[in-house]
Amino acid sequence: PDPPPLEALQHQDVARLLPEPSGESDKYRRGVVGIVAGSARYPGAAVLAVAGALRGGAGAVRYVGHAADAVIARFPEALVHSGPPARAGQVQAWVVGPGLGDDPDVVREVLESRVPVLVDADGLRPLDPATVRDRGAATLLTPHAGEAAALLGVSRGRVEAARLASVRELAARFGATVLLKGSTTLVASPDGSVPVRVNPMGTPWLATAGSGDVLSGLAGSLLAAGLGAADAGAVAAYLHGLAGRDAAGRGVPVTSFEVADAVGGAWGRVRSP
Ligand code: AMP
Ligand code: MG
Repeated sequence: PDPPPLEALQHQDVARLLPEPSGESDKYRRGVVGIVAGSARYPGAAVLAVAGALRGGAGAVRYVGHAADAVIARFPEALVHSGPPARAGQVQAWVVGPGLGDDPDVVREVLESRVPVLVDADGLRPLDPATVRDRGAATLLTPHAGEAAALLGVSRGRVEAARLASVRELAARFGATVLLKGSTTLVASPDGSVPVRVNPMGTPWLATAGSGDVLSGLAGSLLAAGLGAADAGAVAAYLHGLAGRDAAGRGVPVTSFEVADAVGGAWGRVRSP
């Protein structure tokens, strides 16, 4: 059969998918996202992932890891926990990996949970397809080309030259939704008959340290709000791209923190163009 077509993400689709709190919402029903990220070496990745999650409308963020002091210093609204993720309390989705370093046990523990899990960055390294495929809940993998190449066991150049085939192959192999980052971001569903979504919104200024960490928190908060993995990934990529464009204005360098802070404005523009 012919491979399914690509589908460009439309502004109005994103608008329709944006979660909106109702009168009955409380912080738990709006979605609690757990973030397992950061390490003594990379504390900033934890702060940026938490920033993305809070800007993405999470009702609350539970941070688990070795960068709690850095997280709290910047975000007093975060709940921080030490010890294993399972003891952190209930969450509606987990994000694991940004700046995590080498910690396969914590990745495995998060994957054992029954809620949607986003795996990014260092969390992708210990991943094995069977563990992901056999989970009882959705998994969203968010590699850049280098990380995708490592997962597939091919060179980065190979992925760059065949981005569409690569993202489809990863989704099939892991039975997961895969968001392949880059100048255009692709989102493939595990069901190969669903079109791959292309995010048209972005700016090369997003190619800056920490930008992917913000995206992972943002997508995690949308998973926690109840969006499916493909919708959460696509909406996050679109908002992140729009926020990057807004932050960069007519073409000035941006920091990842500024991108996170621009997500609210991007959200508002999607809601009421
Ligand atoms: P990471 O490599 O994990 O830091 O993620 C980088 C983020 O920046 C991803 O969201 C990419 O899609 C985005 N990005 C990187 N390079 C470009 C580019 N040239 N144009 C648009 N977005 C980009
Ligand atoms: Mg990254």
